[in-house]
Amino acid sequence: MYHQKPPASGAFPPGEQGAAIFFAEKPEKEDQLRALVDALPQFVWIARADGSAEYHNRRWCDYTGLSNEQSQGEGWLQAVHPDDLQRATADWQQTIQAGRAGEMEYRFRNGTTGEYRWFLTQAVPQRDAQGTIQQWLGTCTNIDNQKRAEQQRQASEESLRILAEMMPQFVWITRPDGFVEYWNQQFANYFQATPAEIQGYSWRQFLHPADYNRVVSTRHHTLATGEPYETTYRLRNGRIGAYHWFLARAVPVRDEMGQISKWFGTCTNIDEQKHIEEVLRQSQERAQALMDSNIIGIFISHSEQVLEANDTYLRMTGYTREDLRAGKINWMQMTPPEYAAQAEQTLREIATQGYRTPYEKEYICKDGSRLPAVVGGAILHDDPHQFIGFVLDNSARKQLEQRKDDFLSMAGHELRTPLTALNLQTQIVKRRLTKQGLHETVATLARMEEPLRQLERLIGELLDVSKIQSGRLEYIREPVDLDTLLREVAETMQQMNSSHTIVVRGAAPCCIIGDKGRLEQIFINLLSNAIKYAPDAPLIEIEASTSSESVTIKVRDYGIGIPREQREKIFERFYRASDPSHRAVAGLGMGLYIVTQIVTRMGGTITVESEIGKGSTFVVTLPLERPTEQRDAPAST
Ligand code: ADP
Repeated sequence: MYHQKPPASGAFPPGEQGAAIFFAEKPEKEDQLRALVDALPQFVWIARADGSAEYHNRRWCDYTGLSNEQSQGEGWLQAVHPDDLQRATADWQQTIQAGRAGEMEYRFRNGTTGEYRWFLTQAVPQRDAQGTIQQWLGTCTNIDNQKRAEQQRQASEESLRILAEMMPQFVWITRPDGFVEYWNQQFANYFQATPAEIQGYSWRQFLHPADYNRVVSTRHHTLATGEPYETTYRLRNGRIGAYHWFLARAVPVRDEMGQISKWFGTCTNIDEQKHIEEVLRQSQERAQALMDSNIIGIFISHSEQVLEANDTYLRMTGYTREDLRAGKINWMQMTPPEYAAQAEQTLREIATQGYRTPYEKEYICKDGSRLPAVVGGAILHDDPHQFIGFVLDNSARKQLEQRKDDFLSMAGHELRTPLTALNLQTQIVKRRLTKQGLHETVATLARMEEPLRQLERLIGELLDVSKIQSGRLEYIREPVDLDTLLREVAETMQQMNSSHTIVVRGAAPCCIIGDKGRLEQIFINLLSNAIKYAPDAPLIEIEASTSSESVTIKVRDYGIGIPREQREKIFERFYRASDPSHRAVAGLGMGLYIVTQIVTRMGGTITVESEIGKGSTFVVTLPLERPTEQRDAPAST
């Protein structure tokens, strides 16, 4: 609407001479030219030699809302974006001064919407025959779309660059041939290297020599095939000189034609992860070595079911891997009834302390045979419902023990026969000598009696132990007056040991059902020990007391005492306290074992209280009503 049709060539007002020159054609031709110029999608303009605008076509006027007159001189600058104004003026001046064709980019305001669009302004000087510039001819082409696309591309490239710089990983870009052309600061910092030392393929100098060939050939392969690149390698840290493990990854970026234009890559430090993997691998290797060892059976169980087991465990128990997979191995079912108490103890220990103290037991194997074993284990920390157990085949030791027991039993019997004959012969000789009145010789012969008694007791104990082992120790059930029994035993022992004074205190006015001979054995043993282990303390006390349910007899000495850690052990077979004061006293470690077995058999208990250097008190408690006969405790526990 602001556009005015340029007047016909002959009627150009002064100042529009340029347009007159430009359209100086025949009138009909001139009209065609005008129509053409107005139809062009670009703005078309003419400026004088000094650069002042003279003519703008219709597109310009329609777009900017400026009339030709308003655009004249420097009027067109009104349409230029204020931010571009200075540059637009300067660029235009420069072009004029240079007197050569020029190109400029700036934004023009749309007069209707007020929006600015980017235009490429191109100007060419028009010269006369002498080469003097007569005027400038120009066009402005709308490049808004390209410009915005370019700006967007630049903005997104910038965002990507910022992102790449912020990433903890190394980020890099290569050309299609793998030539590294961009890397972020982290990459350079790690190597402490100059750009020249990184660019292209130079960065490969930081690769670990052991990884070099593998990495290069993998990279060649991916470059050739366009497959995504992924590998791990070690890179040298320029600051500390050490190598760290990295995971390198790259993907190709393709152009519209599908050709690879770049590769985008990253390197992530996985040194810690590698280290953990290595530690894990080593510990797995060790665990596997343990599992594979044919020394120890290992199993993992959940409740009663064995979930996993090594070959040794399967071999020991006779089960197969198929049985294991089918869930047919149940350690509770493999536990003989007499070991039920130990099984319960296992569950208790696991619940309270998380592990099972190793103990001896037997397993019922698949074929029904028994396997003596030492078993221990612990709960797994990552799953407290699972238990890892260790099983050692104990049969060799058990066989040895059996042979030892057999030997002891045999030796006991073999020794007893000549001893009985010796005793008999001594009595016969003694009687004869008495008859002959050889009293002095009789007295000499009588000195043999004590060592013979000792020998008899020793052999008796040996035989008792072997009978207990095989469950053949006989017990008679008879009413026993405990008070009388205690006094008789005390008296006998007193007669035989003048070095000590045995005092009986309290009373046990009760009759219990038991084996008199075995009961005597208990107190004879305790009193002999009290005498043996208190060589310098002559007083030995027996103290009896009763309650409604039980009778308690204490045997107290003021001797050497028993170390705390050995107080429970002394009741075991053949156990003797290890310190020199104990070892100085002769003994075989059988007495307390036999005593314990008898007391247990009678439904009672035996304990000891002791203080080193002050003495010991053995406390025997027996029930007044003898409970139903108990089984012998298994020999192996
Ligand atoms: P031993 O034949 O060795 O005496 P026992 O079975 O009777 O065997 O006793 C086992 C161990 O218990 C002894 O070796 C000794 O170390 C310790 N012991 C037993 N009674 C006493 C006691 N009254 N005072 C100190 N130690 C004792």
